[in-house]
Amino acid sequence: MSNYIVLVKQVPDVSQITDNAFNPETGTLIRTRLASVINELDAQALAFANYMKVISGDNKGQIIALTMGPPMAEEVLRYSLSRCADQAILLTDRALGGADTVATANPLAFAVRKIVRDILKNEDDYFVISGMQSVDGDTAQVPPQMAEELGLSCIAYVTDIEFKNGRFEFTRIISGGSQVVAAKKLPAVITVAKYEFPLYATFSKTRWANRTQVTTWASEDIKATHIGVKGSRTAVIRVFPPGKSTRKCRQLNNTDSLAKLLVESFKSGNSQMDQDSDSKASRYILPKKRVSLFDRNFEGTKKEQEDYAILSEKLKELGIKEINQIDDQAKKKILAAAGDQFHDRALEDMINGLELIKPAFKGEVWVVAEHSEGLIHPATFELIGKANELADSLETKVGVCLAGYQVETMAKELIASGADNIYVIEDKLLSVFDPTAYRKAVADVISQYWPQVVLYAATPQGRMLAPMVSYRVECGLTADCTGLDIRDSSRKGDIALLLQTRPALGGNVMATIRTKNSKSQMATARPGVMKKMPSDASRKGNVIKQKVELSEDDISLEIIKTELGAGDVNFGAEVIVSGGKGMQSRDNYDRLLTTLCESLTKKLNTQIERGASRAAVEQGFVERAHQVGQTGTSIGPKLYIALGISGAIQHMIGVANTETIVAINSDPNAPIFKQCDYYIVGTVEETIPQLVDALEQM
Ligand SMILES: Cc1cc2nc3c(=O)[nH]c(=O)nc-3n(C[C@H](O)[C@H](O)[C@H](O)COP(=O)(O)OP(=O)(O)OC[C@H]3O[C@@H](n4cnc5c(N)ncnc54)[C@H](O)[C@@H]3O)c2cc1C
Repeated sequence: MSNYIVLVKQVPDVSQITDNAFNPETGTLIRTRLASVINELDAQALAFANYMKVISGDNKGQIIALTMGPPMAEEVLRYSLSRCADQAILLTDRALGGADTVATANPLAFAVRKIVRDILKNEDDYFVISGMQSVDGDTAQVPPQMAEELGLSCIAYVTDIEFKNGRFEFTRIISGGSQVVAAKKLPAVITVAKYEFPLYATFSKTRWANRTQVTTWASEDIKATHIGVKGSRTAVIRVFPPGKSTRKCRQLNNTDSLAKLLVESFKSGNSQMDQDSDSKASRYILPKKRVSLFDRNFEGTKKEQEDYAILSEKLKELGIKEINQIDDQAKKKILAAAGDQFHDRALEDMINGLELIKPAFKGEVWVVAEHSEGLIHPATFELIGKANELADSLETKVGVCLAGYQVETMAKELIASGADNIYVIEDKLLSVFDPTAYRKAVADVISQYWPQVVLYAATPQGRMLAPMVSYRVECGLTADCTGLDIRDSSRKGDIALLLQTRPALGGNVMATIRTKNSKSQMATARPGVMKKMPSDASRKGNVIKQKVELSEDDISLEIIKTELGAGDVNFGAEVIVSGGKGMQSRDNYDRLLTTLCESLTKKLNTQIERGASRAAVEQGFVERAHQVGQTGTSIGPKLYIALGISGAIQHMIGVANTETIVAINSDPNAPIFKQCDYYIVGTVEETIPQLVDALEQM
């Protein structure tokens, strides 16, 4: 008899953001001005748990909804009770506030332990089920970190399930395709990426839900070891509005204008790519290499930069060259120059900061390589490019942790792309990616060398592995970074920290985060954002073989079937025309893309390839090899035409390096319209034939 502990979270409703939800001065989102709702993917996870109970044919299993949050989070528990939950538990305590993912996963795991002890009477046939991620954090880190704390296996990004031969078989998203797996042991943690069969509340269930007692636990009831701000291993140091897209986002009213613009932008080239703030930022120099110790141009926040600018300007004016020359007289003059900008205590901290030259962390900058079927994932090369830049500033080496079986041959390619030392972990048990086995292997090697930075690709594999490894080696982790910079926090006594910048709240704000209470700084970085280095076959590096102790017991999943996209698709073509779920059918996809591609080939005299969204592939419109995006292929053509594609982040990540993006979509509010250069609001059935006519008549 399986039981189901479902994690539900109350989140701000980021789909309904009004203008007054933004702070007019800072441009950032005021969270309290947004309505609170159940995290959509958690609502799906709840329905998924109910479906598991139904298909297993076992009515006795309980569904227990668990949330951690303020007292008002009880609303999502009432929601859960009114749908299918049998019991609900609210973990609420001021001491739990301000937590990062570690200090969220830890108390939730301890709450699960208490549920198992008190309610399930130590029965270990249970699943912990949650949405893949929440819209406010978007990290997807909490469930794998809980799995690590509880010592359970974790099956992430699940989209479907079957009950066969007395056990559950889960279909999940993996890099480049999908996979059917079963847990080798229970209990297990499951995260749901898509389950579009919501549950509705009946009148009588709603009345019952409102009458039912919600169990409330405080921090001391669960005895967690890492809670609140103190138990966190990361800290947000800055929140700011996202930069405006440099895409044109221009609506066209007729297909004649679109035909003209397609031809013009293809011929002229039209690079409107969003530059990440990161690449523009100046390259960090360690204090000992700066012209003067008083040069503090690399502080992490604008305020600290301004404060130090005033201080060093004044020191220059006063002719002070040594710290011990800063006497009371000088301090008075500095404070007068600062006005309200900073006061005496801050000045003392800043002066102390001037003495610092030693970086807060030491060791190499590492990348954890991702590979499959003998090929290294392109995101690994991008990370090595970034690691090279960081290591250059920090005057250290770039290491790559390469775990797998018969993978040593890949070392050459990794060295050519910028790595210095390749730490190879070869074991037959690592032949295919198993999160539990891989996390043990990678964590063991990290804790042998303690690199100061460890980067993972924010792919389904990296977003699964990184939280487990970082939790295991007791380090902070920031998800899905789009910017990584080395900066100082001299005033607080830290030099050469990795500042990790990422979008949050559905991309409505950006946050810069630093690691704390950790021996290493860890981040996953979004594919397609960092730049790889040109490959250089003459580069030299070292291969360092590692031995780790693994046994069959470390394998958590039985892989039943893997479907990976493979085929003769030329994504190097200058023009790529992609169809999404909005194409409605395979027939439409074939017919409409064929006519459009034929007339574009004639007009532009170039090779054109067909792409697709993941949803179109799942609908069977085209083979998986054509999938574009985070788990498909990342492309960078001159011209990308998206037909009936909504513009989900996982799709758009894959087209970030495109010169011109054109979209046709029937929904005037389609998110893709804010991420493209030209668009037409219209159905593909009507618009494409008109566009083909317009191209022929040009
Ligand atoms: C871990 C993970 C990895 C993923 N990886 C990828 C990936 O690599 N690539 C990817 O694409 N997705 C990926 N996804 C899925 C992604 O989140 C979206 O679900 C997917 O991109 C949606 O595809 P779509 O835009 O075709 O479908 P939908 O989001 O359903 O959008 C269909 C669009 O078609 C429009 N439409 C409907 N009818 C018409 C019509 N007649 N004419 C014109 N327009 C019409 C609608 O307005 C809508 O905007 C991933 C998801 C997860 C969780």
